[in-house]
This record gives sequence, structure tokens and C-alpha cells, in this order.
Amino acid sequence: MDLLNTLVEKGLRRELPTREEALAVLATPDDDLLDVVAAAGKVRRQWFGRRVKLNYLVNLKSGLCPEDCSYCSQRLGSKAEILKYTWLKPDEASQAAAAGVAGGAKRVCLVASGRGPTDRDVDRVSKTIEAIKEQNEDVEVCACLGLLSGGQAERLRAAGADAYNHNLNTSEGTYGDITTTHTYADRVDTVHQAQAAGLSACSGLIAGMGESDDDLVDVVFSLRELDPDSVPVNFLIPFEGTPLAKEWNLTPQRALRILAMVRFVCPDVEVRLAGGREVHLRSMQPLALHLANSIFLGDYLTSEGQAGQTDLDMIADAGFEVEGTDTTTLPEHRAEALGGGCGSHSGGCAPCGDSEPAAEVPTADVPGARTDLVAVRRRGAGTDLAPNA
Ligand code: SF4
Repeated sequence: MDLLNTLVEKGLRRELPTREEALAVLATPDDDLLDVVAAAGKVRRQWFGRRVKLNYLVNLKSGLCPEDCSYCSQRLGSKAEILKYTWLKPDEASQAAAAGVAGGAKRVCLVASGRGPTDRDVDRVSKTIEAIKEQNEDVEVCACLGLLSGGQAERLRAAGADAYNHNLNTSEGTYGDITTTHTYADRVDTVHQAQAAGLSACSGLIAGMGESDDDLVDVVFSLRELDPDSVPVNFLIPFEGTPLAKEWNLTPQRALRILAMVRFVCPDVEVRLAGGREVHLRSMQPLALHLANSIFLGDYLTSEGQAGQTDLDMIADAGFEVEGTDTTTLPEHRAEALGGGCGSHSGGCAPCGDSEPAAEVPTADVPGARTDLVAVRRRGAGTDLAPNA
């Protein structure tokens, strides 16, 4: 197919596809799906070989957020029955991180609910970063604490953070439909602050919130312009108790086309398969490894993922290998541009994602709803139970 040949050639040259080409990937028929995956897989292998980077989420503070992001289970007014707890102590957080590292994770993502950190919160997280690095100096640490204010990015960098995550989530044009308590511009500003402080920027999207193909292409093109080192691709987990509970819009095929489009537009960036993969890709997850070069191991912030050992088996069975700490994730030109920081810079926190009930039709009756696959996290950080890693 001419379209795919063109996109492969552009991806190998790190050349930006046209909007029309990106839209055409999303519009390909299911009959062509394996051709699309094979084409984007060539681009993935050019820049990342067959390596899969594992990342591990630690939810430092869960729920009770004053912001109203509709996709988020931790939002203001959320009725989702998630774990709610305040800041983990540095030793609790480093213990949780250690479980992920023992399971094969190369990066730990420290995430806290809230609009953004206070200076005291930054002190707290700095101590946590130091505790994690004391235990394992090779582990990469990404912080995801919301909107940053002056000097906070520099302080996190000084404490040893390698990366900072703040997702754009959706297009600028539709941002106001999903969140009213902060703006798209606020989000872009925080990513710029992280980059200016020498942190590896991680910024991605959430697909499946009812957006159009144009919206998806808009946000991915905006990400290309923002130039983060890693782009997490989340698929909305429509939690009961959140405004988007009935947004069951994705099929495994659609999810794969979205990942392929992201790979073609951001060819040499760490594309991370993030929240919602088990729910929406289901048995097609191994195909996604041909597109993304990074995944989260274990559980997400407020929901449970598949068993860590199942992830490791899936990677091995699909013919991929877990990336070790002795390997630089990013292609040379990107790692050098970053100035030798942690060298793999990705990160990208799964969406906290839930919201409120929309009444009328029970969600279980929404066509395509797989509420049976959504399990609220009840183990790991903030509980007495062992984590999934
Ligand atoms: S995404 Fe973050 S800021 Fe938005 S409601 Fe969830 S925890 Fe709060």
C-alpha cells in the first residue's frame, strides 16, 4: 500500500507525516490491520529494536483531587470506589518502588493526585526520590505531580528526578470539554518547565473519550511539536462513578491503529502502552508490542493490571526482550540532546481516570462495555497487601 510505504520511509527518516496521512492510518479497514502493524513495526524496530522498557507506577497520594478531569477516578465529585489515602512516607514509597524494580522495571513513576505540588510536597517527593536512588542508583525516576510552579522542576531535578510526566491528554480544541479547572495551555506550560529544568519530558494522550479522528491527530501533532522523550498512550478506563463511565468507544483494532498513528508521527520517541491496555486490547496486546516500545508493569494508579508475570511471559512469547539498565532507551541522537540524563527518558503516568455516574442506561448495557475487565486497585501502595509486580 502506497500510504504505508510512504509512512515507513518517513518514519525511518524521522520526517513528519502529513495530517492526511495520519488520518488515513486511523481510517484503514480491519482487513489491512496487520499491514498497518507490520509497517509501524518497521519504524519501531529501527529506533528501539525488539526491546521493551518496563515502568512501574507508585501512587503516592490517591483520590480527593480538587480538579475535575472527567476521565479521572480521583477527580472532584468522583463516586468511583477507589483507594483514597494521603502522601505515602518516603520509606513506604521506596518499598513500593523496590517491588517494581525487582519485577524488572527500569523506571519508577511517582504520581500524586492534585492540581499541583506545594513546595512542601516537592520536599516530600525529593526525599522519596533520594530514598529510591539510595536503594538502587540505576533506576530512573519520573515524577508526575500535576502543574508545576516556579523553581519546582529544578528542585526535583536537583533531588535526582530524571523525568517529569504531564499529559496533554486530548486536543486543544476539546480540552475544555473534559476539564474546566485548568487549561490546555497550563499543561503545555508545565511540560516546558520540565524541559527547561533538564528533566526528560513525558507527555501523552488518552484515547477513547469520545474524541474524533481529527482530535487524535491534533493532539499527537501537538505532542510532536512539544517534543517529549516519551509519549504514553492511554486508553480510557471508563470507571463507574465518573462522567465518562459510558464511553466504551474502543475496539482492539482501533486501539492498534491509534498506536500505529502515534508511532508514525513520533517515530523515534518512546511510545508507551499505558492505562487501559488490558481492557481495550485484551488478547491483542502482543500485537501492540510491535508499535510501542514501553509498557507499565503491574497495576495502574487506581485500577489493577494483569499479573506482572503475565506481562513478562507476553513479552517473551511475542519475541521481544525486556530492556536492561545497561541499555539506553532512546536513540543516540535523542539521548545526546538530553545531555546524558537518565538516557532512556520516558515515563508517562497512566490516567488516573474516572468520573461520575451519568444515570439512565446501566453501563453494563452500553454496547461494547467490558466492565467485567475493570478492577479497582485494592493491593500495593496504600494497602497492607503485596503489590502486583
Ligand atoms: S487527572 Fe490529576 S489533576 Fe485531574 S482529577 Fe485526576 S488527579 Fe486530579
